Amino acid sequence: MEVIKALVPRGLVVLEGKSLEVPVTPEGLCSLRIEIKDGKVVSLQAVSPKEKIPDQIVLPRLIEPHAHLDKAFTWTNFPNLFGTYNDAYQVNLEEHQARTFLNVKNRAERSLSLALQNGIRAVRSHLDSFGEHAISTWEAMLDVQLHWKDKLELQFVALTPLEYWKTKEGHDFANRVAQSGGVIGGVVAPPFKPRELKENFLETLKLADQLGCGIDLHIDESQIQPAACLKELLKVLDQMNIEIPVTCSHVSSMGLLSSKKLSLLADRLAKNKINIVALPMTNAWLLGRLPRCTPSVRPFAPIKQLQNAGVSVAVGGDNVQDPWFPCGNFDPLALMAFTLPFAQLAPWNRLGLAPFTTSSANLLNLSWDGILQKGCPAEIVLLEAKSWVEALASSPRRKVMVGGRWIDTQLRKII
Ligand SMILES: [Zn+2]
Repeated sequence: MEVIKALVPRGLVVLEGKSLEVPVTPEGLCSLRIEIKDGKVVSLQAVSPKEKIPDQIVLPRLIEPHAHLDKAFTWTNFPNLFGTYNDAYQVNLEEHQARTFLNVKNRAERSLSLALQNGIRAVRSHLDSFGEHAISTWEAMLDVQLHWKDKLELQFVALTPLEYWKTKEGHDFANRVAQSGGVIGGVVAPPFKPRELKENFLETLKLADQLGCGIDLHIDESQIQPAACLKELLKVLDQMNIEIPVTCSHVSSMGLLSSKKLSLLADRLAKNKINIVALPMTNAWLLGRLPRCTPSVRPFAPIKQLQNAGVSVAVGGDNVQDPWFPCGNFDPLALMAFTLPFAQLAPWNRLGLAPFTTSSANLLNLSWDGILQKGCPAEIVLLEAKSWVEALASSPRRKVMVGGRWIDTQLRKII
Protein backbone atom coordinates (compact mmCIF):
# COMPACT_ATOMS: atom_id res chain seq x y z
CA MET A 1 0.00 0.00 0.00
CA GLU A 2 1.20 3.51 -0.86
CA VAL A 3 0.64 6.28 1.69
CA ILE A 4 0.97 9.95 0.75
CA LYS A 5 0.66 12.96 3.02
CA ALA A 6 -0.20 16.00 0.96
CA LEU A 7 -2.20 19.19 0.65
CA VAL A 8 -5.35 18.71 -1.44
CA PRO A 9 -7.84 21.37 -2.68
CA ARG A 10 -10.81 21.09 -0.28
CA GLY A 11 -13.23 21.49 -3.19
CA LEU A 12 -11.85 18.40 -4.93
CA VAL A 13 -12.19 15.97 -2.09
CA VAL A 14 -15.05 14.15 -0.34
CA LEU A 15 -14.33 13.43 3.33
CA GLU A 16 -16.23 11.50 5.97
CA GLY A 17 -16.54 11.43 9.77
CA LYS A 18 -13.97 13.29 11.83
CA SER A 19 -12.03 14.28 8.71
CA LEU A 20 -14.84 16.66 7.81
CA GLU A 21 -13.35 19.05 10.36
CA VAL A 22 -9.96 19.15 8.61
CA PRO A 23 -8.31 22.61 8.82
CA VAL A 24 -8.04 24.45 5.49
CA THR A 25 -5.29 26.91 4.52
CA PRO A 26 -6.28 30.40 3.27
CA GLU A 27 -5.70 29.00 -0.26
CA GLY A 28 -8.30 26.27 0.33
CA LEU A 29 -5.85 23.36 0.78
CA CYS A 30 -6.30 20.70 3.45
CA SER A 31 -3.70 18.27 4.84
CA LEU A 32 -4.62 14.67 4.08
CA ARG A 33 -3.22 11.19 4.47
CA ILE A 34 -4.08 9.31 1.29
CA GLU A 35 -3.86 5.53 1.12
CA ILE A 36 -3.65 3.83 -2.25
CA LYS A 37 -4.02 0.15 -3.00
CA ASP A 38 -4.71 -1.86 -6.17
CA GLY A 39 -5.04 1.24 -8.32
CA LYS A 40 -7.60 2.92 -6.06
CA VAL A 41 -7.71 5.47 -3.27
CA VAL A 42 -8.79 3.37 -0.31
CA SER A 43 -8.69 5.98 2.44
CA LEU A 44 -8.58 9.77 2.87
CA GLN A 45 -8.01 11.03 6.42
CA ALA A 46 -7.25 14.44 7.86
CA VAL A 47 -3.65 14.78 9.06
CA SER A 48 -3.61 15.73 12.74
CA PRO A 49 -3.06 19.49 13.24
CA LYS A 50 -0.16 18.50 15.57
CA GLU A 51 1.74 17.02 12.62
CA LYS A 52 3.89 19.00 10.20
CA ILE A 53 1.94 20.51 7.28
CA PRO A 54 2.85 18.53 4.11
CA ASP A 55 5.11 20.29 1.62
CA GLN A 56 3.51 18.78 -1.48
CA ILE A 57 0.16 19.10 -3.25
CA VAL A 58 -1.91 16.29 -4.73
CA LEU A 59 -4.30 16.98 -7.59
CA PRO A 60 -6.32 14.58 -9.72
CA ARG A 61 -4.54 14.11 -13.05
CA LEU A 62 -5.65 17.06 -15.15
CA ILE A 63 -7.38 17.41 -18.51
CA GLU A 64 -6.65 19.16 -21.80
CA PRO A 65 -10.10 19.84 -23.31
CA HIS A 66 -8.91 21.51 -26.53
CA ALA A 67 -5.62 20.76 -28.29
CA HIS A 68 -4.28 20.40 -31.85
CA LEU A 69 -1.90 17.45 -31.61
CA ASP A 70 -1.64 17.06 -35.40
CA LYS A 71 0.07 20.43 -35.81
CA ALA A 72 1.93 20.79 -32.49
CA PHE A 73 5.61 21.77 -32.78
CA THR A 74 5.35 22.85 -36.43
CA TRP A 75 6.40 26.43 -35.61
CA THR A 76 10.08 25.75 -36.34
CA ASN A 77 9.38 24.87 -39.97
CA PHE A 78 6.21 26.94 -40.31
CA PRO A 79 6.54 30.08 -38.20
CA ASN A 80 4.00 32.90 -38.27
CA LEU A 81 6.15 35.81 -37.25
CA PHE A 82 3.46 38.48 -37.76
CA GLY A 83 1.14 36.68 -35.35
CA THR A 84 -2.10 37.47 -37.16
CA TYR A 85 -5.04 35.09 -37.51
CA ASN A 86 -4.98 35.25 -41.32
CA ASP A 87 -1.24 34.57 -41.52
CA ALA A 88 -1.67 31.67 -39.11
CA TYR A 89 -4.26 30.12 -41.44
CA GLN A 90 -2.08 30.60 -44.52
CA VAL A 91 0.97 29.06 -42.85
CA ASN A 92 -1.22 26.21 -41.55
CA LEU A 93 -2.15 25.46 -45.18
CA GLU A 94 1.53 25.48 -46.16
CA GLU A 95 2.17 22.97 -43.37
CA HIS A 96 -0.51 20.72 -44.89
CA GLN A 97 1.64 20.40 -48.03
CA ALA A 98 4.41 18.82 -45.96
CA ARG A 99 2.11 16.55 -43.93
CA THR A 100 2.77 12.81 -43.76
CA PHE A 101 1.32 9.98 -41.69
CA LEU A 102 4.65 9.78 -39.86
CA ASN A 103 5.22 13.43 -39.03
CA VAL A 104 1.67 13.78 -37.66
CA LYS A 105 2.23 10.68 -35.54
CA ASN A 106 5.60 11.90 -34.26
CA ARG A 107 4.20 15.30 -33.25
CA ALA A 108 1.36 13.65 -31.37
CA GLU A 109 3.73 11.22 -29.61
CA ARG A 110 5.96 14.11 -28.53
CA SER A 111 2.91 16.05 -27.31
CA LEU A 112 1.53 13.15 -25.32
CA SER A 113 4.87 12.33 -23.69
CA LEU A 114 4.90 15.89 -22.37
CA ALA A 115 1.22 15.84 -21.44
CA LEU A 116 1.66 12.60 -19.48
CA GLN A 117 4.71 13.84 -17.58
CA ASN A 118 3.03 17.15 -16.86
CA GLY A 119 0.04 15.43 -15.25
CA ILE A 120 -2.63 15.20 -17.98
CA ARG A 121 -4.95 12.17 -18.12
CA ALA A 122 -7.23 13.04 -21.06
CA VAL A 123 -6.88 15.15 -24.19
CA ARG A 124 -9.50 16.25 -26.69
CA SER A 125 -7.70 17.17 -29.89
CA HIS A 126 -9.16 18.83 -32.95
CA LEU A 127 -7.63 17.37 -36.13
CA ASP A 128 -7.42 19.19 -39.44
CA SER A 129 -9.87 17.13 -41.50
CA PHE A 130 -9.86 18.91 -44.83
CA GLY A 131 -7.59 18.62 -47.85
CA GLU A 132 -5.75 15.62 -49.17
CA HIS A 133 -4.20 14.61 -45.84
CA ALA A 134 -7.43 14.37 -43.83
CA ILE A 135 -7.66 10.58 -43.87
CA SER A 136 -3.98 9.93 -43.21
CA THR A 137 -4.09 12.42 -40.31
CA TRP A 138 -6.96 10.47 -38.73
CA GLU A 139 -5.28 7.15 -39.36
CA ALA A 140 -2.07 8.36 -37.71
CA MET A 141 -3.99 9.71 -34.73
CA LEU A 142 -6.07 6.54 -34.29
CA ASP A 143 -2.78 4.64 -34.13
CA VAL A 144 -1.58 7.04 -31.45
CA GLN A 145 -4.88 6.71 -29.56
CA LEU A 146 -4.45 2.94 -29.43
CA HIS A 147 -0.81 3.16 -28.41
CA TRP A 148 -1.60 5.52 -25.49
CA LYS A 149 -4.89 4.04 -24.30
CA ASP A 150 -3.51 2.66 -21.02
CA LYS A 151 -2.03 6.00 -20.03
CA LEU A 152 -4.21 8.72 -21.52
CA GLU A 153 -7.72 9.02 -22.92
CA LEU A 154 -7.70 10.65 -26.33
CA GLN A 155 -10.74 12.13 -28.08
CA PHE A 156 -10.73 13.56 -31.60
CA VAL A 157 -12.77 16.28 -33.26
CA ALA A 158 -12.94 16.57 -37.07
CA LEU A 159 -12.05 20.19 -37.79
CA THR A 160 -13.22 21.42 -41.18
CA PRO A 161 -15.18 24.30 -42.73
CA LEU A 162 -18.79 23.73 -41.62
CA GLU A 163 -20.23 23.54 -45.16
CA TYR A 164 -18.18 20.36 -45.75
CA TRP A 165 -20.69 18.39 -43.65
CA LYS A 166 -23.39 19.07 -46.27
CA THR A 167 -21.48 17.27 -49.02
CA LYS A 168 -21.52 13.56 -49.91
CA GLU A 169 -17.81 13.39 -49.03
CA GLY A 170 -18.57 15.11 -45.72
CA HIS A 171 -21.28 12.55 -44.88
CA ASP A 172 -18.86 9.69 -45.60
CA PHE A 173 -16.20 11.28 -43.44
CA ALA A 174 -18.70 11.94 -40.64
CA ASN A 175 -19.56 8.22 -40.67
CA ARG A 176 -15.90 7.41 -40.28
CA VAL A 177 -15.62 9.91 -37.42
CA ALA A 178 -18.67 8.41 -35.68
CA GLN A 179 -17.36 4.87 -36.06
CA SER A 180 -14.12 5.84 -34.33
CA GLY A 181 -15.96 7.55 -31.46
CA GLY A 182 -15.06 11.05 -32.67
CA VAL A 183 -16.79 14.40 -32.53
CA ILE A 184 -17.96 16.63 -35.40
CA GLY A 185 -16.19 19.99 -35.49
CA GLY A 186 -16.02 23.11 -37.60
CA VAL A 187 -14.87 26.71 -37.75
CA VAL A 188 -17.33 29.60 -37.84
CA ALA A 189 -16.50 33.27 -37.50
CA PRO A 190 -17.72 36.52 -39.03
CA PRO A 191 -18.16 37.76 -41.68
CA PHE A 192 -20.83 35.31 -42.86
CA LYS A 193 -24.12 35.14 -44.76
CA PRO A 194 -26.82 34.50 -42.11
CA ARG A 195 -29.03 32.23 -44.22
CA GLU A 196 -26.06 30.12 -45.34
CA LEU A 197 -24.68 29.85 -41.81
CA LYS A 198 -28.06 28.83 -40.42
CA GLU A 199 -28.36 26.13 -43.05
CA ASN A 200 -24.83 24.90 -42.30
CA PHE A 201 -25.60 24.69 -38.57
CA LEU A 202 -28.88 22.90 -39.22
CA GLU A 203 -27.33 20.29 -41.53
CA THR A 204 -24.33 19.71 -39.28
CA LEU A 205 -26.45 19.32 -36.14
CA LYS A 206 -28.85 16.97 -37.93
CA LEU A 207 -25.98 14.85 -39.19
CA ALA A 208 -24.31 14.69 -35.77
CA ASP A 209 -27.62 13.82 -34.13
CA GLN A 210 -28.27 11.01 -36.61
CA LEU A 211 -24.81 9.60 -35.96
CA GLY A 212 -24.97 10.15 -32.20
CA CYS A 213 -21.79 12.28 -32.26
CA GLY A 214 -21.11 15.31 -30.13
CA ILE A 215 -20.34 18.69 -31.70
CA ASP A 216 -17.38 20.93 -30.85
CA LEU A 217 -17.08 24.15 -32.83
CA HIS A 218 -14.41 26.84 -33.10
CA ILE A 219 -16.87 29.72 -32.91
CA ASP A 220 -16.53 33.51 -32.80
CA GLU A 221 -12.74 33.46 -32.47
CA SER A 222 -12.96 37.04 -33.60
CA GLN A 223 -12.97 40.67 -32.59
CA ILE A 224 -15.85 41.78 -34.85
CA GLN A 225 -19.62 41.26 -34.63
CA PRO A 226 -19.64 40.07 -31.01
CA ALA A 227 -21.12 36.57 -30.56
CA ALA A 228 -22.76 36.77 -34.01
CA CYS A 229 -22.27 33.08 -34.87
CA LEU A 230 -23.29 31.95 -31.41
CA LYS A 231 -26.60 33.81 -31.74
CA GLU A 232 -27.26 32.08 -35.09
CA LEU A 233 -26.44 28.71 -33.56
CA LEU A 234 -28.92 29.30 -30.74
CA LYS A 235 -31.65 30.26 -33.22
CA VAL A 236 -31.13 26.92 -34.97
CA LEU A 237 -30.99 24.94 -31.71
CA ASP A 238 -34.25 26.58 -30.59
CA GLN A 239 -35.97 24.98 -33.60
CA MET A 240 -34.52 21.52 -33.00
CA ASN A 241 -34.91 18.81 -30.47
CA ILE A 242 -31.54 17.13 -30.20
CA GLU A 243 -29.82 15.32 -27.37
CA ILE A 244 -26.18 15.34 -28.47
CA PRO A 245 -23.67 17.33 -26.40
CA VAL A 246 -22.77 20.69 -27.98
CA THR A 247 -19.49 22.40 -27.12
CA CYS A 248 -18.49 25.87 -28.25
CA SER A 249 -14.77 26.58 -28.18
CA HIS A 250 -13.36 30.13 -28.07
CA VAL A 251 -16.54 32.34 -28.00
CA SER A 252 -14.00 35.14 -27.66
CA SER A 253 -16.04 38.00 -29.09
CA MET A 254 -18.87 37.26 -26.64
CA GLY A 255 -16.73 39.06 -24.09
CA LEU A 256 -17.20 42.29 -26.08
CA LEU A 257 -21.00 42.38 -25.57
CA SER A 258 -22.61 44.85 -23.16
CA SER A 259 -23.24 43.28 -19.78
CA LYS A 260 -27.01 43.08 -20.32
CA LYS A 261 -26.72 41.37 -23.74
CA LEU A 262 -24.02 39.11 -22.40
CA SER A 263 -26.15 38.03 -19.48
CA LEU A 264 -29.16 37.23 -21.71
CA LEU A 265 -26.98 35.20 -24.07
CA ALA A 266 -25.32 33.34 -21.18
CA ASP A 267 -28.79 32.36 -19.90
CA ARG A 268 -29.70 30.97 -23.32
CA LEU A 269 -26.45 28.98 -23.46
CA ALA A 270 -27.21 27.52 -20.03
CA LYS A 271 -30.76 26.66 -21.07
CA ASN A 272 -29.42 24.82 -24.13
CA LYS A 273 -26.78 23.03 -21.97
CA ILE A 274 -23.98 24.28 -24.23
CA ASN A 275 -20.51 23.74 -22.80
CA ILE A 276 -17.81 26.34 -23.38
CA VAL A 277 -14.06 25.95 -23.77
CA ALA A 278 -12.15 29.18 -23.15
CA LEU A 279 -8.72 29.37 -24.78
CA PRO A 280 -6.76 32.23 -23.23
CA MET A 281 -3.29 31.77 -24.68
CA THR A 282 -4.11 31.59 -28.40
CA ASN A 283 -6.78 34.31 -28.02
CA ALA A 284 -4.33 36.62 -26.24
CA TRP A 285 -1.78 36.15 -29.01
CA LEU A 286 -4.00 36.38 -32.11
CA LEU A 287 -6.92 38.64 -31.28
CA GLY A 288 -7.24 42.37 -30.78
CA ARG A 289 -4.31 43.06 -33.08
CA LEU A 290 -3.95 46.48 -34.68
CA PRO A 291 -0.82 47.65 -36.55
CA ARG A 292 1.70 49.36 -34.25
CA CYS A 293 -0.67 49.16 -31.27
CA THR A 294 -0.67 47.31 -28.01
CA PRO A 295 -4.24 46.08 -27.73
CA SER A 296 -6.52 47.59 -25.14
CA VAL A 297 -9.40 45.33 -26.24
CA ARG A 298 -8.94 41.65 -25.48
CA PRO A 299 -11.69 39.45 -26.99
CA PHE A 300 -12.06 36.52 -24.61
CA ALA A 301 -14.80 34.20 -23.34
CA PRO A 302 -16.49 35.84 -20.32
CA ILE A 303 -15.82 32.85 -18.07
CA LYS A 304 -17.25 34.20 -14.82
CA GLN A 305 -20.47 35.57 -16.31
CA LEU A 306 -20.99 32.22 -18.06
CA GLN A 307 -20.40 30.32 -14.83
CA ASN A 308 -22.76 32.66 -12.97
CA ALA A 309 -25.46 31.77 -15.50
CA GLY A 310 -24.87 28.07 -14.89
CA VAL A 311 -22.80 27.31 -18.01
CA SER A 312 -20.02 24.76 -17.61
CA VAL A 313 -16.71 26.30 -18.72
CA ALA A 314 -13.43 24.48 -19.30
CA VAL A 315 -10.08 26.14 -20.04
CA GLY A 316 -7.78 24.66 -22.67
CA GLY A 317 -4.27 25.21 -23.98
CA ASP A 318 -5.23 25.13 -27.69
CA ASN A 319 -2.17 25.48 -29.93
CA VAL A 320 1.34 24.47 -28.93
CA GLN A 321 4.29 25.85 -30.91
CA ASP A 322 2.45 25.96 -34.22
CA PRO A 323 1.56 28.82 -36.62
CA TRP A 324 -1.36 29.82 -34.36
CA PHE A 325 0.66 30.19 -31.16
CA PRO A 326 4.43 30.05 -30.69
CA CYS A 327 4.56 28.89 -27.04
CA GLY A 328 2.83 26.30 -24.83
CA ASN A 329 4.05 22.88 -23.73
CA PHE A 330 1.07 20.79 -22.59
CA ASP A 331 1.66 21.85 -19.00
CA PRO A 332 -1.66 22.37 -17.17
CA LEU A 333 0.08 24.20 -14.32
CA ALA A 334 1.59 26.70 -16.79
CA LEU A 335 -1.88 27.16 -18.31
CA MET A 336 -3.34 27.83 -14.85
CA ALA A 337 -0.55 30.30 -14.15
CA PHE A 338 -1.28 32.18 -17.40
CA THR A 339 -5.03 32.16 -16.83
CA LEU A 340 -4.66 33.58 -13.33
CA PRO A 341 -3.74 37.13 -14.47
CA PHE A 342 -5.37 36.97 -17.91
CA ALA A 343 -8.83 35.85 -16.78
CA GLN A 344 -8.43 36.68 -13.07
CA LEU A 345 -9.20 33.04 -12.37
CA ALA A 346 -7.61 31.67 -9.20
CA PRO A 347 -7.48 27.98 -8.26
CA TRP A 348 -8.21 28.68 -4.58
CA ASN A 349 -11.78 29.47 -5.64
CA ARG A 350 -14.03 26.54 -6.58
CA LEU A 351 -15.02 28.14 -9.88
CA GLY A 352 -11.41 29.01 -10.59
CA LEU A 353 -10.33 25.38 -10.34
CA ALA A 354 -13.34 23.69 -11.97
CA PRO A 355 -12.38 24.71 -15.56
CA PHE A 356 -9.18 22.66 -15.23
CA THR A 357 -10.70 19.71 -13.37
CA THR A 358 -14.37 18.77 -12.92
CA SER A 359 -15.86 20.93 -15.70
CA SER A 360 -13.31 19.58 -18.19
CA ALA A 361 -14.01 16.01 -17.07
CA ASN A 362 -17.75 16.51 -17.55
CA LEU A 363 -17.25 18.17 -20.92
CA LEU A 364 -15.23 15.18 -22.13
CA ASN A 365 -17.78 12.84 -20.50
CA LEU A 366 -14.99 11.01 -18.66
CA SER A 367 -15.85 8.12 -16.38
CA TRP A 368 -14.29 9.93 -13.38
CA ASP A 369 -15.03 13.57 -12.60
CA GLY A 370 -11.73 14.08 -10.75
CA ILE A 371 -13.15 14.29 -7.22
CA LEU A 372 -10.85 12.47 -4.79
CA GLN A 373 -12.78 10.15 -2.53
CA LYS A 374 -12.67 6.62 -1.16
CA GLY A 375 -12.80 4.20 -4.09
CA CYS A 376 -11.81 6.69 -6.81
CA PRO A 377 -9.04 5.76 -9.25
CA ALA A 378 -5.48 6.49 -8.12
CA GLU A 379 -4.84 8.91 -10.97
CA ILE A 380 -2.97 11.76 -9.34
CA VAL A 381 -0.23 14.30 -9.84
CA LEU A 382 2.01 15.18 -6.91
CA LEU A 383 3.46 18.69 -7.02
CA GLU A 384 6.60 19.75 -5.22
CA ALA A 385 4.98 22.89 -3.78
CA LYS A 386 3.75 24.04 -0.37
CA SER A 387 1.02 26.35 -1.71
CA TRP A 388 -0.87 27.29 -4.87
CA VAL A 389 1.28 30.39 -5.22
CA GLU A 390 4.46 28.30 -5.13
CA ALA A 391 2.95 25.85 -7.64
CA LEU A 392 2.05 28.66 -10.07
CA ALA A 393 5.02 30.99 -9.61
CA SER A 394 7.35 28.55 -11.36
CA SER A 395 6.20 25.34 -12.94
CA PRO A 396 6.82 22.80 -10.14
CA ARG A 397 8.56 19.45 -10.27
CA ARG A 398 6.02 16.67 -10.12
CA LYS A 399 5.37 12.95 -10.01
CA VAL A 400 2.49 11.33 -11.82
CA MET A 401 0.58 8.24 -10.73
CA VAL A 402 -1.26 6.26 -13.41
CA GLY A 403 -3.53 3.43 -12.23
CA GLY A 404 -1.85 3.36 -8.82
CA ARG A 405 1.73 3.27 -10.13
CA TRP A 406 4.20 6.13 -10.38
CA ILE A 407 5.42 6.69 -13.90
CA ASP A 408 9.10 7.16 -14.48
CA THR A 409 9.13 10.62 -16.00
CA GLN A 410 12.75 10.19 -17.08
CA LEU A 411 12.18 6.97 -18.97
CA ARG A 412 8.70 8.10 -20.04
CA LYS A 413 7.19 4.74 -19.37
CA ILE A 414 5.25 3.08 -16.60
CA ILE A 415 7.49 1.27 -14.10
ZN1 LIG B 1 -8.37 25.29 -31.49
